[in-house]
Amino acid sequence: MAHDFIYSQPVKIYFGKGKFAKLGEVLKELGLERCVIACGRHFAPTAKEMQGNDSRIVAVFGGVEQNPQLSGVIETTRLARETGADAIIGIGGGSAIDTAKFAAAIALSDGEAIDYYHGEKPFPAERLTIIAVPTTAGTGSEVTQVSVISHETEKKTINNPVFMPKVAIVDPVLSSTVPPRTTMNTGLDAMAHALEGYWSKNHQPISDLMAVEAVRTILENLETAYTDGSNLEARSNMAYASLLGGLSFALPKTAGCHACSYPLSEDYHLPHGEACAFTLDSFVRINADERLELLCRRVGLTGTEELAQRIAALKKLAGLRSRLGDLGEVNLDKLAHDCAVHGLMNNNPVQMDEAALRAMFEKLA
Ligand code: NAD
Repeated sequence: MAHDFIYSQPVKIYFGKGKFAKLGEVLKELGLERCVIACGRHFAPTAKEMQGNDSRIVAVFGGVEQNPQLSGVIETTRLARETGADAIIGIGGGSAIDTAKFAAAIALSDGEAIDYYHGEKPFPAERLTIIAVPTTAGTGSEVTQVSVISHETEKKTINNPVFMPKVAIVDPVLSSTVPPRTTMNTGLDAMAHALEGYWSKNHQPISDLMAVEAVRTILENLETAYTDGSNLEARSNMAYASLLGGLSFALPKTAGCHACSYPLSEDYHLPHGEACAFTLDSFVRINADERLELLCRRVGLTGTEELAQRIAALKKLAGLRSRLGDLGEVNLDKLAHDCAVHGLMNNNPVQMDEAALRAMFEKLA
């Protein structure tokens, strides 16, 4: 019997090959006249060209890095304030979109980004419009109210409705240039979103449906997208799966595997997707239960063990780091402790304390 739930998804989504060309129409429809683009280096030359061709693009911050820094937020905010922007367009992977979200949330105030980052000031009620254009297939940031920003040694997830984009333009063509290893990292991030949304303590029926479809689509397409990046069908299917993955965890939130990804990125510098993939097959085994068996059967697998093996095989194919020895010198006490105290660990269906996490990592020695 279905349980009570509240479902809400406020982002208008344009999906399909070539849909990026709709950006001009979207700006017109929303009455936006002064937009700042935040993007990474791979897109910066195109963004500059866009600025030259469209007077509504008033500035470009093209220096967003992986595990994006607060300094990038500060620079994007400065550009938005100086130009009197009405919108920020994040074009890129999750790093660019999360930078755009944070800057848009604070640009109309005169507060310092660091105060909002540390929670010393509440985010202002008024914000700039956020348009999200993903160029990787992984984070689903285009449909979440999450911004993940790093400062000094800390990588922090901030969950706040002010970060919700108004519009997402998901054009798979934009992802056709993603290098193979990033394709695998980001694809497994999408897998982690779907599985964690599904096994989250706060899972709910509509998100579950999308999770199942995301897992099926990733199992069917990620290997091809990795081995043949020019295969637009595989890219399109992965872009769709990533979007579904984002919708799968947007309300239920992620769990143990994402909790562990933070120390793995902060202390061992793994990119986000690789950090999630590091423990994903372990958590499939740990969280195996009747519901997860059902998901496996629905996506054509014999059960959770086959799912864990398929994930491990994808990691191996791309040479992702998956053993403790791949991380260099590991402080196992600190790693287990930091994973155990991360807030998302409370969302894992199986309680994982420091000792249980230590035992999980020891199996990866
Ligand atoms: P990313 O944005 O860091 O990009 C990875 C690399 O790929 C970068 O060097 C980037 O410049 C490059 N790149 C991006 N698109 C490209 C393209 N089309 N062609 C060539 N190169 C391209 O990676 P990501 O995995 O998309 O995002 C990771 C970040 O998103 C992490 O900080 C993670 O914590 C965060 N995240 C956020 C959410 C959310 O809901 N806000 C969800 C999951 C992850």
